[in-house]
Amino acid sequence: MNGTANHTAYGRNTGTGMENLTLAVAKGRVLKETLPLLERAGIQVLEDPFTSRKLILPTSLVHLSLVVVRSTDVPTYVRFGAADLGVVGKDILVEYDGAGLYELLDLGIARCRMAVAEPAMKPHSVHRRLRIATKYTNTTRNFFARRGLQAEVIKLYGSMELAPLAGLADQIVDLVDTGGTLRANGLVEVETIAHVSSRLVANQASMKLKDQSIMEISERLADCLKV
Ligand code: AMP
Repeated sequence: MNGTANHTAYGRNTGTGMENLTLAVAKGRVLKETLPLLERAGIQVLEDPFTSRKLILPTSLVHLSLVVVRSTDVPTYVRFGAADLGVVGKDILVEYDGAGLYELLDLGIARCRMAVAEPAMKPHSVHRRLRIATKYTNTTRNFFARRGLQAEVIKLYGSMELAPLAGLADQIVDLVDTGGTLRANGLVEVETIAHVSSRLVANQASMKLKDQSIMEISERLADCLKV
């Protein structure tokens, strides 16, 4: 269920006349690049999310709180209204189906690409069905199906680069930024599937019930993207 206006599960009575908002931000690189963007938008997070043990962090906007969650959980928090807003990579929105979420802004941060890679020295076998290791199983299946290619897609939760080296898979689908991780493991990029950056997303009910507060945050961020 979605929270009613001016009330979330974490709601504080701000007395500002603005509706309470919760912003869920994906841990890791997205969080690291979101904090300076929030600062530029005049929003300071009042406790260091990298050292604080608190899970709900106040900001300099008394009606706005931050929660830091796993990237794959951001769409769930926002879809169910536990967070009104979220910052998460497009890779996650595509993989876990962004249905029920409004994508408000491309924040242009945590840029990378989703790519297919394979060992430089060991081209994949032509004798059996291509096996691809990835945590993006839906996106990978759709990509290979669109190409009319038969591929066995296997799910891994981390260290994707190890899979071809250990003989678990012929290729991987993973995020690539500088290409350093691939190079360090003797892998080469063979195809780009998508360009990825972080998006500001909103819960659909919150968009109606808290439109004033949401538009204010969205406009602050949009303004600092222009400069
Ligand atoms: P790089 O060595 O710079 O190509 O970075 C690749 C590693 O960083 C892989 O383990 C990726 O999963 C991870 N990575 C790259 N870009 C991102 C991103 N925007 N968000 C999360 N992980 C990323």
